[in-house]
Amino acid sequence: MRSQVFSMCRLCALQRRPEAVLPPPRDVSIDALRVCEAHRARARLESGAWLAPLLAAAPGVLDGPGMGFLFNPVRIDTTVAWVSWAFSSWQAYLPLLPCADSFEFEVLHRPEHLETLRSLQESRAMFGAAPTAIDLARWSRPSGWHRFEAVQRLCDQWWRRQCYGEALRAAGRASPVSAQEAMAFTRELEPCVAPIDRIGDALRCLLAMAERRFGTEPPVHAAHGA
Ligand SMILES: [Zn+2]
Repeated sequence: MRSQVFSMCRLCALQRRPEAVLPPPRDVSIDALRVCEAHRARARLESGAWLAPLLAAAPGVLDGPGMGFLFNPVRIDTTVAWVSWAFSSWQAYLPLLPCADSFEFEVLHRPEHLETLRSLQESRAMFGAAPTAIDLARWSRPSGWHRFEAVQRLCDQWWRRQCYGEALRAAGRASPVSAQEAMAFTRELEPCVAPIDRIGDALRCLLAMAERRFGTEPPVHAAHGA
């Protein structure tokens, strides 16, 4: 029954029952946080621009790991939501936990990243206060590098956050004004690969997020304006 409630979208449900709160985080999948088509169509960027027509005007396929950094967060009416890309299409989601940016949204909500965060949290004693790429390699070795690759991808995303943030600040805007401009950003910035001397900073950030997500039972939030 619960999936039926969610399939009509959390915002639809909240509009009917404003006092509703989400179930405890471990029970909620990212699919349950996706908004319906009608609500997705109402997503606006911080500039006030409607997102759907802006993206639909793209001259080609708009995709890639940088898109989330270019077109987030959005507001659907008064509620903050996060846009995420998969297989060249995008969806909007309500956050379960407050997020500072697209990086935090993806890491704290995508199941594959949560699995990595949980592994980091379980073995955080292997990383000191100043973790390094060598610690990462030592920790990953027993898994046949599966864990190394998963964390490396997150380190690259962490670096991508810095790169896109700087480029947007330099351009003086929070988001591209057109799909063409978004494509120009990605042409200029990709591929983003975290420099080896920044892996420690990325690991510190990921360990802090692991603690936030799994160190203590996270608070339950209403989805309104999180
Ligand atoms: Zn809805």
